[in-house]
Amino acid sequence: MNGKDYYRILGVPRNATKDEIKKAYRKLAQKYHPDKNPNNKEAEDKFKEISEAYEVLSNDEKRSLYDSGRLFTGTGGFRPEDFTGFGFGDFSSGQGFTFSGDLGDLFDLLTGGTRFTGRSGRRAQRGADVEVNVTLPFEDSLKGAYVPITVKRTEACPICRGTGAAPGTFPESCSRCGGRGYVSQNQGLFALSRPCPECGGRGVIIRDPCSACGGRGSKVVPKNIKVRIPPGVSDGSRIRFKGKGEPGPGGGPPGDLYVVTRVTKHPYFGRKNGNITLELPVTFAEAALGTEVMIPTVDGKVKLKIPAGTQSGRVFRLKGKGAPLLKSKGGKDRGDMLVTVKVIVPARLSEKEKELIEQLGRLETKDIRAHLK
Ligand SMILES: [Zn+2]
Ligand SMILES: [Zn+2]
Repeated sequence: MNGKDYYRILGVPRNATKDEIKKAYRKLAQKYHPDKNPNNKEAEDKFKEISEAYEVLSNDEKRSLYDSGRLFTGTGGFRPEDFTGFGFGDFSSGQGFTFSGDLGDLFDLLTGGTRFTGRSGRRAQRGADVEVNVTLPFEDSLKGAYVPITVKRTEACPICRGTGAAPGTFPESCSRCGGRGYVSQNQGLFALSRPCPECGGRGVIIRDPCSACGGRGSKVVPKNIKVRIPPGVSDGSRIRFKGKGEPGPGGGPPGDLYVVTRVTKHPYFGRKNGNITLELPVTFAEAALGTEVMIPTVDGKVKLKIPAGTQSGRVFRLKGKGAPLLKSKGGKDRGDMLVTVKVIVPARLSEKEKELIEQLGRLETKDIRAHLK
């Protein structure tokens, strides 16, 4: 039933061990990785295909379902809107259904999953969560940005209109389960249902599968969308976009999309939670005598007063000059800027400098290591 030969895609025999599958996948993944093949649609498709094959064959449960022809990739079933393709009419009215039941039954039939009935009610299968990495320049991480990403969407096959049956043919109602997709056993208070072994839970038998989708009735298509990255994200922030993940099989709720932000390093600004960090080199003379220096902030230059006697490592806090906070804390919606002073000891001295520092050394009478004696 499944259109794709995952073993052939990975170039391994059907009895390949997990190790062999892993090795074959790694080799191919390296070859077709998008980073190595920029703007190469063919390589990208190939990469997606081998990833999909590996995802199934590396998982014992999925592999055995696949081997027995019961794994439907993508949504794994029909969505209610696809149902009109059967010629049953408007599904929401319930007219013309060959089985008794309500909308929930329909969902269950479509999902084909194990179902527990009784007081607990029923569960619709939720779509998978999707995680996508995006890389942002440091400035954009503070300002926020709209970032284009590609996500997988499952759509009804346009050739068979989602039925999975070749054009001109129709799926037949499964006689084993009477089209319900599951068979049930009474166990005390509960009726335990399991997917029908005859039709794999679909409730229908497709004698002549649609060649465009391999009988799945759906296809996975890449879709370009733009996501709004809020101001203030940092390297490794994980933003949730509810309901933007993969569609739920058989009309279940969609999964969530998680966008993980990677922020490129700035030449001198750093990040520490909501704060922006800066290392400020000062000379011994500046630290000892005190000075005023112009320093960059994300809002432009400001004057920072370095008091006389400032030690290396001292941190000056510029309140409210940090990154925007994703969630404002105690009325604050921005972090601070933390400026760490670093006293630079010259590595090379001119004759004049050497002479003056020697003079200074002779003047210093206080024993700074007295406490170590
Ligand atoms: Zn099709
Ligand atoms: Zn059946």
